[in-house]
Amino acid sequence: MRIITLIISISLAALLPLKAQFTPQSKVPPPMTEQFASQVRGYQQIIDTYHSTAEKIIRTAKQDNLCYDRLAEMCDTYGHRLSGSESLEKALDWIIEQLKKDGLDVTSEKVMVPHWVRGTESATLVSPRVKKLAMLGLGGSIGTPAEGITAEVLVVKSFDDLKAHASEAKGKIVLFNVPFTTYGETVQYRVNGCNEASRVGAVASLVRSVTPVSLSTPHTGMLRYNDSLTKIPHAAITVEDAELLQRMQKRGVKTMITLKMEAKTLEDSPSRNIIAEIKGSEKPEEIVVFGGHIDSWDVGQGAMDDGGGVFVAWNALRIIKKLDLKPKRTMRLVFWTNEENGLKGGTQYALNHKNELANHVLAIESDAGTFKPRGFEVKGSERSKVLATAISSLLNPIAADLIVDGDGGADIGPILETGVPGMELIVDDAKYFWYHHTDADTMDKLNPDELNLCSAAMAIMTFVAADFPIRFPK
Ligand SMILES: [Zn+2]
Repeated sequence: MRIITLIISISLAALLPLKAQFTPQSKVPPPMTEQFASQVRGYQQIIDTYHSTAEKIIRTAKQDNLCYDRLAEMCDTYGHRLSGSESLEKALDWIIEQLKKDGLDVTSEKVMVPHWVRGTESATLVSPRVKKLAMLGLGGSIGTPAEGITAEVLVVKSFDDLKAHASEAKGKIVLFNVPFTTYGETVQYRVNGCNEASRVGAVASLVRSVTPVSLSTPHTGMLRYNDSLTKIPHAAITVEDAELLQRMQKRGVKTMITLKMEAKTLEDSPSRNIIAEIKGSEKPEEIVVFGGHIDSWDVGQGAMDDGGGVFVAWNALRIIKKLDLKPKRTMRLVFWTNEENGLKGGTQYALNHKNELANHVLAIESDAGTFKPRGFEVKGSERSKVLATAISSLLNPIAADLIVDGDGGADIGPILETGVPGMELIVDDAKYFWYHHTDADTMDKLNPDELNLCSAAMAIMTFVAADFPIRFPK
């Protein structure tokens, strides 16, 4: 029971802050001290024994475009993969078939997941003129009455700005028009805006989409209601429309919006984590676990978030199998379900495998995009960063040898809380948030060569960690 409570509290903590931290584009490694560098050199002899294997992995990764082709086939055939949807479960069935074709051992583990449905929705500026506003309800939001909510809009620029205008908010629709700084900072308005707006008597809330760049694309994502406050509908509109409403308010023009949302939360629904393995040849009980999440939002195709992430992890394991490499420890690939609106997959995995967690030597997540790989974020001790840095030298030929401090990832969060070192694949993420949680998260944004390079980076890091003569240090 204690473990259950612990893991649940971890999962809530992990849900956003962990994802929120990542801004790898701006990350540079901390300056290497002479002591750190000499410890890295201490591994050189062992690392040298992996050079030819690493080269083989890179060559094999570049041989075909199966990773891209499979991801495209899944995305095009089944569509989005929101938790609770039939399309997610059909995609999972298809993945299991393909994994068996790769000759991998496959199991699946039941996970109960939230089942939120968007329904029909719209936002219309009704005064001083009529204009349809592109919008997306936020995941977990309640709906509006059938006739919608029509109210005057109060535009604010921050939570402090809302406080300063609290007396004007009652009965209005509050719009948070907050420019993107970092995901971690700006996403707070998407997650908590409904609560702060409710606190001052608003009847609904809107948020400017969390993105640095917009082509009139609204971005969805998770909200988190504070149960002690009245729940109000919460939706995202585009940067363009948020700015329009801001300018009108500045000119003293009153604006009115009609918001209609059918959103509702149904009973929890069964889904699955899929697990595929290559058993260790010498220490099968010791596990390097890696993967990404297979669920997505109900817009676009979830090609980037996180289809690409989990498919490069899959392709990494396929490459190791194809090359008939036999790691000393078990390499375990997990397709975690329900990361986006519940983190139930990551939480359930840690519960189901709690007796094995002490033997999880490393956990690696790939959920920060699959553009050109740059390296890995590491969450762990100095000693774990030393070995990660040593292994990463094998990724130098594909310029993916960057090692920076990190916070792990959402799905591996519950594993990392038990002291297991963690990593996240980092990529050139300059465009990541342009498409994140939108209708534009589609296959055409990805590139087969970049997926292959990400696969090679994942394959080398996971295989060498699994095969290394020394257990990955905590
Ligand atoms: Zn994701």
